[in-house]
Amino acid sequence: MCYRACKTCNKKVTEAIGFGYWCEACQKNDEECNLRYIMNAKISDASGEAWVSTLNDQA
Ligand SMILES: [Zn+2]
Repeated sequence: MCYRACKTCNKKVTEAIGFGYWCEACQKNDEECNLRYIMNAKISDASGEAWVSTLNDQA
């Protein structure tokens, strides 16, 4: 229902082995990523960051 997205480019990232997440588009690892919810994607474009933060805090 959700996927991890790069904080820089918002493309999908994969879990890197041992450290953070790997972004194919940026060709780099990042220790943090955005969680994007597919079912909310259409309403989370404009204020996606706040939405995701709220969901993460509650989790
Ligand atoms: Zn990226």
